[in-house]
Amino acid sequence: MNNKLSLLLKKHGYSSTSARVTVFESLATREYPITMNELIKSVSSVVDRATVYRTIDIFEKTGVVSRIQIGWKYKLELSDMFLSHHHHITCSQCGQTESFHETELLLSELQSIATKKKYVLKTHMLELTGVCSNCDK
Ligand SMILES: [Zn+2]
Ligand SMILES: [Zn+2]
Repeated sequence: MNNKLSLLLKKHGYSSTSARVTVFESLATREYPITMNELIKSVSSVVDRATVYRTIDIFEKTGVVSRIQIGWKYKLELSDMFLSHHHHITCSQCGQTESFHETELLLSELQSIATKKKYVLKTHMLELTGVCSNCDK
């Protein structure tokens, strides 16, 4: 059972129910973000659909989970609090999503854009879409 999860939930007045732990663990075993339907399927033997939706709602409010917007759809994964900071590239044809870490060069470029605008950069979002090598045949 993840200590960081229970602390985070507790801080916002939520307890670590077994359903919440199950949903969390299912997300924690993924290498890539998954869709709500994939998540529901992965825990369907122990947690019902409505509970998964409620749990994700709480997870988003408490910062446990990030919603990755891909066009008009979204996928879910654990937030930067549980995973190291990274970004995604998604295939617009088959929907596969992969993660990547930004380079120092990219980060310094983002910082210099913010600095030119007289902002102190705190966070950024960056999502790429393309066609993967499987679909580009
Ligand atoms: Zn980044
Ligand atoms: Zn593809």
